[in-house]
Amino acid sequence: MIPAPFTYQRASSVDEALDLASQAGEDAKFLAGGHSLMPLMKLRLAVPDTLIDIGRIGELSYIRADDGHIAVGALTSHDDIARSDLLASELPLLAQAAGQIGDPQVRHCGTIGGSLAHSDPAADLPAVALALGATFVARGPSGTREIAAGDFFLSLFETVLEPGELLTEIRIPRPQAAGWSFQKFAKRGIDWAIVGVAVQGSSVALVNMGSTPIRATAVEQALAAGSGPREAAAHAAEGTSAPDDLNGPRAYREHLARVLVARALEEAGSRA
Ligand code: FAD
Repeated sequence: MIPAPFTYQRASSVDEALDLASQAGEDAKFLAGGHSLMPLMKLRLAVPDTLIDIGRIGELSYIRADDGHIAVGALTSHDDIARSDLLASELPLLAQAAGQIGDPQVRHCGTIGGSLAHSDPAADLPAVALALGATFVARGPSGTREIAAGDFFLSLFETVLEPGELLTEIRIPRPQAAGWSFQKFAKRGIDWAIVGVAVQGSSVALVNMGSTPIRATAVEQALAAGSGPREAAAHAAEGTSAPDDLNGPRAYREHLARVLVARALEEAGSRA
């Protein structure tokens, strides 16, 4: 339960973080809220040589309306997202999901960028980003690039981010369809989802139903073909590969996905 030795460096700007990362090389990691990385380091599932603390880079903590989209800085905490008036009116799905993450300490320390870059399929915000059609902005040694949420997550704890590449902003288009819902089934209020569902309009994404967050494409196709919520939700487990673990067997998760997608679609419909 004690991490392996590492060098600690603190960056006070994005430029400094990128410089430190390029000097430290491939075995460096950024430290944001530390609420996913530190547990992994204590279990020695992550053994970085160097930690570059980006947690106090104020320029990456913001929520603002830009042309056609809402921009959220990568270091914005879950709590700031949950309490944002702008998000409550423009992107209530994101605000609602952030407010259900862990407990108050987790929400004050954890950041949206950390949650996305960590790529845990049991995390809530990656699926929300998929349902909202978000784009991620990353800066690295080769410059700045934009990555669609659907292209970002590769597998458990793995994304397309290159070593030394920093996620800086999450851009979310203003939803065209008003109805939304976030459904999370967990053993206790503070736990990760056994299964979760994010719906915005007719976009449906699933938490913890595969090695990455995934779109429920069979459900989306059924909706597009005119099915109602319950009929479409019957397809929720198609194309998934849910984990089979102590929190529940795969068949249980598949059942939960169908139930939660039906609830989410009905709730989204009532808000449209
Ligand atoms: P860190 O732990 O600092 O970093 C995580 C990873 O992302 C590291 O690899 C780091 O190098 C990388 N990284 C961080 N920021 C960037 C960046 N800007 N650019 C590039 N790479 C970056 N999450 C949920 O979704 N739902 C829950 O219910 C939930 N419950 C939790 C309960 C507990 C008790 C705990 C400890 C955590 C829980 N979490 C939950 C996870 C929590 O949301 C984390 O805060 C989040 O996943 C990671 O954010 P962080 O800022 O702490 O990232």
